[in-house]
Amino acid sequence: MSHQSCLLLATLAMAEQEFRVYVSKDYLKFNAAHFIAYQGFREALHGHNYRVSVQVEGRLGVQGYVLDFGIVKDTARRVCKRLDEKTLIPARSDCLTIREDGTQVVVRYESDEFRFPKSDVLLLPIVHTSAEELAQYVLGEIRRELAAGGITGLDALEVGVAETTGQAAYCRERL
Ligand code: ZN
Repeated sequence: MSHQSCLLLATLAMAEQEFRVYVSKDYLKFNAAHFIAYQGFREALHGHNYRVSVQVEGRLGVQGYVLDFGIVKDTARRVCKRLDEKTLIPARSDCLTIREDGTQVVVRYESDEFRFPKSDVLLLPIVHTSAEELAQYVLGEIRRELAAGGITGLDALEVGVAETTGQAAYCRERL
């Protein structure tokens, strides 16, 4: 085999390699209240100690990283902090009506009404607060923060949200 062919094969082999970094830490968590609601069904208000994991796929940069672990951890931690100790309400729900009344948020499902202090509630741009849609929301927030920090060129992002040990939902997006 010629030297040139060897180089070509080496290049092809490298092109097939994929890299990803994965972060799952004790502090990547948020404690929040929620209830699942859809037409004809509503859970009682309850809470979880949610845990978040993040996977980033991409090529190796000149420094040998897909993305510095520190950046992944700091970004995910900021997003978790915004969700922590809140009642999560899905603003795009097709069965809840949500309105503001002075310093309160009023959420109605059929004849049931909840009133929360505004500062205790986070209205999220999702339809249900399932682990799947929370993972979708967290992924969007992490994507937005990375882009705002000038980080580009990643191949995919995946976020896991676990409601409890061994019970997680994942959302993956190609970038
Ligand atoms: Zn739940």
